[in-house]
Amino acid sequence: MSGLSLESMSTSAGSQSRRREDSSAETAYESDIDTSIDFDETTGIASFSSGTRYSIHELDRGTKDAVIKALSTPSKLTLRGCSPRGQGYVFLISETIDYHVRAPYGIGPYDGPSCSCRQDERNTGLQHPCRHTLWVCDQILSQLVPLPRDPYTWRIDGYTTKHGNVCDFVSDFHLDVLADSLHCDVMTGEPIKPRSRRIQTVREILATFSGNPVEQYRPDLTGETMGKRVVKEDDLEETIFRMLLENDAIFSYFLASMRKCGALNPRFRGFRDRADTALDAFDSYIKASDLERAQLSKNPQWCYKTFKDILEQIKAIILNLEIDRLDYRAAANTLVYILDQIVRRNEDHDAIRDGNDDDNPGEAQFKGGRKINIFNELVVQSRHNFILDVLDELSVEFIDHLLPDLRRIEQSITNTNIPLAYLHKLRDIMSRLRVPSPRSGSEPTEGSRKRTSQGDDRHAKRVK
Ligand SMILES: [Zn+2]
Repeated sequence: MSGLSLESMSTSAGSQSRRREDSSAETAYESDIDTSIDFDETTGIASFSSGTRYSIHELDRGTKDAVIKALSTPSKLTLRGCSPRGQGYVFLISETIDYHVRAPYGIGPYDGPSCSCRQDERNTGLQHPCRHTLWVCDQILSQLVPLPRDPYTWRIDGYTTKHGNVCDFVSDFHLDVLADSLHCDVMTGEPIKPRSRRIQTVREILATFSGNPVEQYRPDLTGETMGKRVVKEDDLEETIFRMLLENDAIFSYFLASMRKCGALNPRFRGFRDRADTALDAFDSYIKASDLERAQLSKNPQWCYKTFKDILEQIKAIILNLEIDRLDYRAAANTLVYILDQIVRRNEDHDAIRDGNDDDNPGEAQFKGGRKINIFNELVVQSRHNFILDVLDELSVEFIDHLLPDLRRIEQSITNTNIPLAYLHKLRDIMSRLRVPSPRSGSEPTEGSRKRTSQGDDRHAKRVK
């Protein structure tokens, strides 16, 4: 009885308390897509579902009030699309109704983000941040930079003092890659076709149920039939396939429900998709003629940087965010997946493909006889044991299921030009995996652990 009344008291204590109270184990899916923002009025720190925290301290009175008002409104938002528009980008996020957040790049009087929910403020110049602009900017920033240990400080336009306009980073990151990472479409004005990453993910979801490897699963489910009716008579699988491609909420629901399947874990799937994009870009570059290569902005340098960024970001999540064992396992899966893909591509390619000597600015960096080799660049030349240093941050229990993969990787790199230190590091990790890890029987189960570590901690923070 006393427990119940305490519970109800804390629930009514503040709107931000509602979020975690509602998300009990039965509705784990809802807590995963809940985009409400925890705001601690005592410290003036807001915590987003991405794990990033922001401080309102340097805001003026009016902006502060607007931000606090924005934060206190519980919301469920989905980023549905993004597109280049004039001097910037437009992001479509959906709640009960859709809002357009316009985020221009460059410097100008109107370079703050604006939202269609504040249309009336448009003419007055600077628009105060609303919950939509704050959320979109956090979504973008969380893809661009590693999760910070300390909160960022907001500026009056809703960007952070550290980064300024997030959109200035989008063109290097590539808008389509951002869309893939955030599971949204790039809106072009034409009928939206399902993205290849989405099709692949949906195929993986369904293949998991069927028990078949995704490569062998229903080759006829390609996404070509989109635009037809969702329901396909006598074919439940294709019906679900179409639903998962078409409906973002159902797609998120499945992903959240399948966190046990490491490869589909929503927190890390975005990194895997980004890695796949970089791998595809690398493979396309290798196949392209010199002329075509000059047109490719996703060149090998971009690919190398993408992998380094992904590693930094995964490492920051492992070190700075309280995540559960399913997430840790998914992190390990993602890391080993990337290493495996890079090791498979240990092959020298000519920097000048057609053998002509035309000066081509895109190729200049590869001249001088240097070969293009992604394995050499990322693994052999790396000063921080690529992947392994991050993998090493994880407890043995989250990696031991990957021993067969690591063994295969070890075999394929043993007789290469890999530095001995790297090989030693890999063998060191593997040797720890061979020893069965001590498991205490009293360890909490997945669900209860998640609830006690996240729910109660946050709860305790708020009621103090
Ligand atoms: Zn808004």
